[in-house]
Amino acid sequence: IKIAIPKENASGEKRVAMVPAVVPKLKKLGVDIKVQKGAGVATRIPDEAWGEDVSLTSGPAKTLSGADIVLRVGPPSIKEVEDLKPGTVLFSFVYANRNPDVVKALRDNKITCFAMELVPRTTRAQAMDALSSQAALAGYHGALLGATHLARILPMMTFAVGSIRPAKVLVMGAGVAGLQAIATARRLGAMVEGYDVRSAVKEQVESLGAKFVDTGVKAEGEGGYARELTDDEKAQVREVITKHIQASDVVITTAAIPGRPSPKLIDDEQIAGMKSGAVIIDLAAEGGGNTTATKPGESVEVGSVLIEAPLNIPSRLAEHASELYAKNLINFLGLIVTEEGELNLNWEDDIVAGSVLTHEGEIKHEASRQAVE
Ligand code: NAD
Repeated sequence: IKIAIPKENASGEKRVAMVPAVVPKLKKLGVDIKVQKGAGVATRIPDEAWGEDVSLTSGPAKTLSGADIVLRVGPPSIKEVEDLKPGTVLFSFVYANRNPDVVKALRDNKITCFAMELVPRTTRAQAMDALSSQAALAGYHGALLGATHLARILPMMTFAVGSIRPAKVLVMGAGVAGLQAIATARRLGAMVEGYDVRSAVKEQVESLGAKFVDTGVKAEGEGGYARELTDDEKAQVREVITKHIQASDVVITTAAIPGRPSPKLIDDEQIAGMKSGAVIIDLAAEGGGNTTATKPGESVEVGSVLIEAPLNIPSRLAEHASELYAKNLINFLGLIVTEEGELNLNWEDDIVAGSVLTHEGEIKHEASRQAVE
């Protein structure tokens, strides 16, 4: 089997789908590995670091030529898809609703694409769950951003002139990113509250030493994700949560609903009532953001409240993000490459069947098919 790792295309993307430390594991699968020259440079992996098990190639066309499996972080360009031979297996984040033309090209060129955002969120799939590995890093970074943008300190500190009370941090949306933001803010000494519409997370929030804000609204949806709230539920949440938002120094928001725009958890009126100098770190910017004032990718000041809405946070931690992603991919490859080094797509396997986006000229994932066709 020939495996190719091209350089990422998206501007600002610093991650790469493989790292030298994981190459020995890839080699153990009995594969030939081609890496495009410069693919790791943004991650601070110089070409010399790949070692003798990797052949370095110039440009995407030479890298992809003859490949049986392609490993990427972000989706390929349409030109790259057209350069692949039919039946090539591609691993990548795709987000079909944001990239319909790429999905059509994958379908039309008969590429077998496993979209990493579709990996089921089951216990067995944990080692392949790239959404989780990347979201955990984003949550950690979100707490650090909150700390550095605040003109206050997070922990209680005692000085000769007296003590400073710990800052209050509220984390809204306590999934993978939110729980990591809570853990990080706690380690930095803040008083932390967590809130989510999935009541199952209460215990997890409390186990991290934070208080759970109970709004009485429960909105567990399909596949362990949240569902959208009704207008009545939104009003009920607002009634409880407003005073918590307005008592906080830092609010970190992470709320998401798969395939839908980010729910708006904080409106202009609530922002206007926030403490002077408070900071909102909106980690849901990719889906449009969790506040009505969020500008994805930008930093805005509303009165004396700062709202930061960074995009592609895992790329800021490219070294560890790439390493974890590469390990997620290796574990997935272990499902589809036999000990004899042959490709074996077992459609009875729920992870293989659940993650496939396109195969043999069809869009196999139903929600993506509806979004694209
Ligand atoms: P996500 O990124 O889709 O959403 C982030 C959080 O926002 C979620 O906790 C969600 O409940 C919350 N949210 C949505 N709407 C909200 C609203 N209006 N107000 C407040 N919060 C809101 O979620 P995720 O972090 O990817 O996790 C999704 C699910 O997958 C969770 O149940 C998680 O525990 C589960 N999961 C399971 C495994 C496993 O078992 N292997 C691994 C990872 C994740």
